[in-house]
Amino acid sequence: MPPTGKAAVFHGPGRPFEIRELPLPEVEPDAVLIRVGVANICGSDLHFWRGDAPLRLPADGWIYGHEMTGRVARLGSRVKTDSMGRPLRQGDRVAYCYFYPCGRCYACMGGEPAACPNKIGRPLGPSQFPYFHGAFAEYYYLHPGGAIFTVPDSLPDDIVASVNCALSQVIFGLRKAGLAFGQSVVMQGAGGLGVQAAAVAKAMGAAPVIVVDQLPGRLDLARAFGADHAINLKDIPDRKERINLVRKLTDGAGAHVACDFVGLPAVIPEGIEMLRAGGTYLEIGTISRGARVELEPAQLVWGSKKVIGVVMYDPSVIPQALDFLVRYRGQFPFDRLISHKFPLEKIDDAFRASEWHNRESTSITRAALTP
Ligand SMILES: [Zn+2]
Ligand SMILES: [Zn+2]
Repeated sequence: MPPTGKAAVFHGPGRPFEIRELPLPEVEPDAVLIRVGVANICGSDLHFWRGDAPLRLPADGWIYGHEMTGRVARLGSRVKTDSMGRPLRQGDRVAYCYFYPCGRCYACMGGEPAACPNKIGRPLGPSQFPYFHGAFAEYYYLHPGGAIFTVPDSLPDDIVASVNCALSQVIFGLRKAGLAFGQSVVMQGAGGLGVQAAAVAKAMGAAPVIVVDQLPGRLDLARAFGADHAINLKDIPDRKERINLVRKLTDGAGAHVACDFVGLPAVIPEGIEMLRAGGTYLEIGTISRGARVELEPAQLVWGSKKVIGVVMYDPSVIPQALDFLVRYRGQFPFDRLISHKFPLEKIDDAFRASEWHNRESTSITRAALTP
């Protein structure tokens, strides 16, 4: 194994990534060094790149990215199995968490590891151990105690890459929202999260599954992923009309569950209005701190509606997501989720190609790096 590996270092919005050669870290006894095979550019990565999710970067830049899969490059001396107790060896293909519930806080002890306030550390730069902090690099360092799972042979890397973010996120989110068999659901946004959420909702027995977006290519994909109705914002520019259409499609009542997979707070009030009385709004997309929206609280009060926020998931969802892919691969075209691939050196092109803001149409669903 070479003593160094490449990483793409982010120096702030509007600035090109710097490809830097870094030393491979000494692997602690309970850690795992992973050779990254596929790293997707997720919507939240775009927020940081675009600069609409402000954060303080380390002085020497930040190595980020989190939606990925790879192979075990080096096992810590005490790691013999994956998190399910199955033997784990060098070279095994793995899916893993990119966050680390601490196990000792009130949230973790309360059985809510996804809500652990310590699960994600501050951004780290290339000079800080263990150097490989994110997906946009040849290696990723899974910290001691990180959840890791072997991947079924039948699933190619391109499909597995979205498991540790988009897919596990929507499975966990829809569960938290209480979506049940026979209930109606609206997905606002048909990006990576929205289309996979459509498939998961369909598999959960939800009906109808309604997806709203403004890019025809994405709406086609949403249909292929199980959407019963794909609504193009451009066809129905009037918000009241869209809400009425959702009512019409849901026995006149509105949806049981509606979800923000767009990542723009402006969509939230409309989603809440699309709910029936007693319905639940699931907030996942808008991660940008400081982003605000005006809400009419009486909508919630008189409609007995709930709003729940979710970021990340219980690590035990990952093997369920892998199992879901094995069972539903024939039914939904997961291989269409990654539309474009770029080598690590072309990371700037990959981000530019992924940018969907202010665009009439985009053929990109998810761009992936193959470090
Ligand atoms: Zn993500
Ligand atoms: Zn915790």
